[in-house]
Amino acid sequence: MNDKPSDIIPPGATLAILGGGQLGSMLCEAAKRMGYRTLAVSAHEANPIARWADHHLVADPSDPATAARLAHQAQVITVEAESIDPDALQAAEAAGARVAPAARVQSIVRDRRLEKTFLAGLALPDGQRATGDFRIAENSQQMHRAAEELFAAGASRIVCKTARGGYDGKGQRWIHDPQHAGSVFESLGGVPLVLEAAVDFIAEASVIVARSADGRMTHFPVFANEHRRGILHQTVMPGEFSQATSAQAIGIARLVAEKLDVVGLIAVEQFVLPDGRVLVNELAARPHNSGHVTLRAAGRSQFEMHIAAICGLPLPPVEVLRPGVMTNLLGDLWAKGEPDFPAVLADGHASIHLYGKSPRPGRKMGHMIHTGATVEEARNAADKAFDRLGGQ
Ligand code: AMP
Repeated sequence: MNDKPSDIIPPGATLAILGGGQLGSMLCEAAKRMGYRTLAVSAHEANPIARWADHHLVADPSDPATAARLAHQAQVITVEAESIDPDALQAAEAAGARVAPAARVQSIVRDRRLEKTFLAGLALPDGQRATGDFRIAENSQQMHRAAEELFAAGASRIVCKTARGGYDGKGQRWIHDPQHAGSVFESLGGVPLVLEAAVDFIAEASVIVARSADGRMTHFPVFANEHRRGILHQTVMPGEFSQATSAQAIGIARLVAEKLDVVGLIAVEQFVLPDGRVLVNELAARPHNSGHVTLRAAGRSQFEMHIAAICGLPLPPVEVLRPGVMTNLLGDLWAKGEPDFPAVLADGHASIHLYGKSPRPGRKMGHMIHTGATVEEARNAADKAFDRLGGQ
């Protein structure tokens, strides 16, 4: 497991990326600056990654045979989405490829049942639980029982999430009464679910850890995240949490990285409780939307850090340059035509990042980052700019 020099993948090598969205694009951009070549596999010619990858293979990124062939074309294979089938990663591993995250990790993070069960099994140093109360339901009968059990245990509301495929609040329904369990099970497509008791949090946070194959780790500061209508709206770096909360959030994230034995990034989304403790909501073994703030606020971005981790490069402590605020730009802002970006760019501390997608309500079209001398200054500038763009 030791990182011998031969374990380092030096610049000049080719990284293969399975998936074609903006996370992959930004990985390609970072890779190019760091001297690596990129080979992207995604299903559509017009995907955002096509503009950034050195080579774009239009194919199903979850196809095992395609992934296996990458073993001969790239020195390391990574993913930019949970939707990539772990079987594809397993086929690449079997063909001798270096794959990060491993198929085993991908199978856990893409299925809430496995993810929650993993989190429930984590032994925290103080004996506390890492995640909130939850149940798994494979059918309508189990769904009824699960809802009854959670309400009987004191849940005020329950959120039902499809085990697979949900993101940005999609594939989720809230219930306030066990009587509604049957109809919600049907409305979510009759697929396996995870039911979670509502967590009465005072804030949401995320911690991104980068880990190499030999177990070296570094982490970004705790971010504070605000969601609107189930979608991330804004991320503040560093989040303004007590020292004890930050230490706990970072400690749990590093424990998750270690116990999962992840290589690359792991983003750990967390709820901050009124007493300052944290509970894990969910995991992503890839760059994360909240981490975009690092493009401007940190010495190295999450994308550079992911590449460093999967290529066995050094993972020094993260340098915080200035407080930063990332605000997502959803398709709704395009309802009345092109948003007034020039007005936003009049602020010399603002940057706009657009992904080249066609606008649809709720679709992540891009993001903007504001930095400032203080968190308050960056946040005020970000909020003003969002208003200016007609955001709600
Ligand atoms: P997720 O897709 O699991 O990240 O959920 C999207 C958002 O829904 C979260 O960021 C929270 O704002 C909210 N949410 C999800 N699960 C819970 C929960 N168990 N209790 C309270 N709010 C939740």
